[in-house]
Amino acid sequence: DASWQAGSAEPAIRIENVTKTFGKTYAVDDVSLDIYPGEFFSLLGPSGCGKTTLLRMLAGFETPSSGRILIDGKDVTQVAPYERPINMMFQSYALFPHMTVADNIAFGLKQEGMPRSERDKRVQEMMELVQIVPFAERKPHQLSGGQRQRVALARALAKHPRILLLDEPLGALDKKLREKTQFELVNIQERLGITFIIVTHDQEEAMTMSSRIALMRDGRVEQVDPPRRLYEFPISRYAANFIGSVNLFEGVVIEQQGDEVLLQCDEAGAVLRVRDSRKMASGMPLCLAVRPEKIRLLAPGEEGPNQLTGVIREIAYLGDVSIYHLELPGGKRVQFTQSNVQALAEQPLTWDQTVTISWRPDSCGALSE
Ligand code: ATP
Repeated sequence: DASWQAGSAEPAIRIENVTKTFGKTYAVDDVSLDIYPGEFFSLLGPSGCGKTTLLRMLAGFETPSSGRILIDGKDVTQVAPYERPINMMFQSYALFPHMTVADNIAFGLKQEGMPRSERDKRVQEMMELVQIVPFAERKPHQLSGGQRQRVALARALAKHPRILLLDEPLGALDKKLREKTQFELVNIQERLGITFIIVTHDQEEAMTMSSRIALMRDGRVEQVDPPRRLYEFPISRYAANFIGSVNLFEGVVIEQQGDEVLLQCDEAGAVLRVRDSRKMASGMPLCLAVRPEKIRLLAPGEEGPNQLTGVIREIAYLGDVSIYHLELPGGKRVQFTQSNVQALAEQPLTWDQTVTISWRPDSCGALSE
């Protein structure tokens, strides 16, 4: 469903200049966001940046200090949680310990007054969806963390909410189970067509699952974009650093040549080039950002743009690729990756080896913030 990309659809949720203060703390500071039907939307950021507070305001557990929240065009800022077409899955899962898995899932439906036969059918569907049918009669303490997580998800989905909020839903799982569950979550979300809004501090998790990510910083939204765009075109040093690995070169603009900017970079001891057609005055401070995988090795005697020579100080072997730390004469370190498939065919790089790297002006970005 790409309707949100076109921006033509009516947003499922509109957050309008929302601020939440606790005493002197601005937990959420003037946030505006539109989230479209069927999106898998992530609120991403470090601890304390306001993700959970924003999510709790969407659910109705907190009231904004100022601003409005609209669901399907209707102002719900003052509407009680249970009257919003929204369900929330909590960090702690909050399962009832004395109830079986099936009863936990049925609980909300029962409260809603759904007739027995319909309820049983819905519970069965939900258990099949998250693959916990064999555990239907167990109590939560007889389940693994991953199984409990799936029960909580089934319970949150059982009422068929139009919008589901998830606060660090995979936080309790180990890496392997996390990765598996990430795909399951996306799968379930796509099958049910529910709008998911998830809070996470894990950039990989956000990248894997999301249609779009709102990267937060000190209560504000730094950048909102699909994962690929956030990775390829971060708007600031903060965004570049938070998503993936990046090399930052601080410098000063010398001049513009066509759509390229020339940068005097003292820490690299070189003039660097970046493709950017925005108008930039000479003397302006600018930062060049380049991802480790965009850097390539030059063969002896070969020349290239953004050419730097240094000594390999560290090598991390990760199986498919290796990460190298190159030390430049001034002491600055540059990270680059090499495919090990390629490295097998060539001479493998070794510690203390002197090599020359290069990257294209259109394979890096210019950051002014
Ligand atoms: P984490 O990833 O650690 O859960 P977060 O990004 O979800 O962090 P919030 O929990 O939204 O961040 O907190 C944002 C800021 O608001 C923090 O500085 C926090 O201490 C403060 N805060 C949150 N809730 C309250 C509260 N009820 N009373 C006072 N301050 C609060």
